Amino acid sequence: MADYDVVVVGAGPAGSMAARYAAEAGLSVLLLDKSLEIGTPKRCGEGLGIRAFRELSIPADPRFINREIYGFAVYAPDGTPVKARFSEVMGYIIERKMFDKHLAAEAARAGAHVEAGAYARLKLESGRPAGVKVRRHDGREAEVRCKVVVAADGVESQIARQAGLDTRLKPSDLDSCFEYEMAGISIEDPDLIHMYMGNKIAPRGYIWVFPKDEDRANVGIGIGGHLEEQAKLLLDKFIQSRPELRRGSILEVNVGCVPVGGFLKQLVKDNLLVVGDAARQVNPLHGGGVYEAMTAGKLAGQAIAKALHEGDLRLLREYESMWWSTHGKRLERILKVRRFAEKLSDDEMNYLARVWRGDDLVELSRGNYRVAAGKIVAHPKLLALVRKLL
Ligand SMILES: Cc1cc2nc3c(=O)[nH]c(=O)nc-3n(C[C@H](O)[C@H](O)[C@H](O)COP(=O)(O)OP(=O)(O)OC[C@H]3O[C@@H](n4cnc5c(N)ncnc54)[C@H](O)[C@@H]3O)c2cc1C
Repeated sequence: MADYDVVVVGAGPAGSMAARYAAEAGLSVLLLDKSLEIGTPKRCGEGLGIRAFRELSIPADPRFINREIYGFAVYAPDGTPVKARFSEVMGYIIERKMFDKHLAAEAARAGAHVEAGAYARLKLESGRPAGVKVRRHDGREAEVRCKVVVAADGVESQIARQAGLDTRLKPSDLDSCFEYEMAGISIEDPDLIHMYMGNKIAPRGYIWVFPKDEDRANVGIGIGGHLEEQAKLLLDKFIQSRPELRRGSILEVNVGCVPVGGFLKQLVKDNLLVVGDAARQVNPLHGGGVYEAMTAGKLAGQAIAKALHEGDLRLLREYESMWWSTHGKRLERILKVRRFAEKLSDDEMNYLARVWRGDDLVELSRGNYRVAAGKIVAHPKLLALVRKLL
C-alpha cells in the first residue's frame, strides 16, 4: 500500500509545478525539499520572460515581481551595443526566494503536502523505485512509499542516477556561475537587462547585469565549466574595470552551475520522471531555466495524472514524448545557435554587433536562426560556420 500516489523530490520551479498539476488532478502528492527555506539560496539572475507568466497563468504579483523589463542590451567585446527596447513589458526581474515559495504554496493549495528541510534518497525494490527515504531537519528518518517518483532535484541531481539513469555530465556541459547582488551602483537603462560578451571577459559565456532597482542589480558571470579561469576572479576584474560598478556594495553572493550542453534523452524510467535542471532542460543560449523547469514540471504532472487515473504506468512516457516534440525540439535548435556562438572570436562578435539588430537576437534566442544568419553572408568564416548550423 502506497503512502502517496506521487513523491516529488525538489521544490524548485520544476518540482512545485509537477506537484501542483498532479495534486490538482486529485492525486495525493508529497513535495520534499532539503533546504530549510524553499527558494534559498537564490542562485539566479532572476530574469524571467513574459511568456512564463502568460502561458502558465502566473499572476504578475508584486510579492514576487521586483521590476518590469522592456528589453535587453548585448555588448560586443569592443563595447558596441545591440539594444532592443519594446513598448510593452517583455519580462520581469523576479524575487526568486518569494517566487519559488509562491509556486510551492500553489502546490500546497492544490492539495500537495509540502515539506522543507527534508532530504530524500531513492528507495528501490527489485530495482524499481518504490518510494524515498527521508531525513528530516530534526534528525527523524522515515520511508515513504509511492507509485511515482519525480526527480526535480536540480543540476546536482542524484535521484535519477539512483534509479539507474545515466545523468553524468562533463565539466564542459556546464557553465560555472558566480553572482553578486550589488547596491549603490549606477545603471544606464535600468529597464533593460544587460549582457557583456567576450572571450577575455567571460570565455564561452557572458557577464550579466540584471537591474533590481535604479541602483541595485544582480551582477553575475557564467563561463565554461571546463576552463581554467575562475568565474569569481573574472567577475571581480570586470567590476573593477567599470566605474559604474566598482564602488558598489555586495548584498548577496551566489555560486552555481547551469547545464548548457544538451538535454537528458531519457526522461522516464519505470515509474520515475526527471524534470527541470535535473534533466538539463535549460535554454542553452542564455542559461535561463526557470521557464523550462516550470513547463516541464507541468507536462510531467499532467502525464502522471493520466497514467494513474487510467491505471497504466506506460502512459508516463507521454511526458517524454510531449517534451521532446515541443520544448525539446525548440531547445535543440537553440543548442545549435549556442554551438555557433561558442566558436566566435572577439573580432567576429564585434562584426556581428554591427550587422545584427535587436530583433535578430530575439529570433536567435528562440532558435529561429535563418533570419539572423542571412545577414552575415559577407563574412566568409562566419558563412562557413552558418552553413554548419543550417
Ligand atoms: C548563477 C545562476 C543564475 C541563473 N539565472 C537565471 C535567470 O536569470 N533566469 C532563469 O530562468 N534561470 C536562471 N538560472 C537557472 C535556473 O536557476 C534553473 O534553471 C532553475 O532553478 C531550475 O529549476 P529546477 O526546479 O529544475 O531546479 P532548482 O531550482 O535547482 O530546484 C531543485 C531543488 O531540489 C532540492 N533538492 C536537491 N536535492 C534534494 C534531495 N536529495 N532531497 C530534497 N531536495 C533536494 C534543492 O534544495 C532545490 O530546491 C540561473 C542559474 C544560476 C546557477
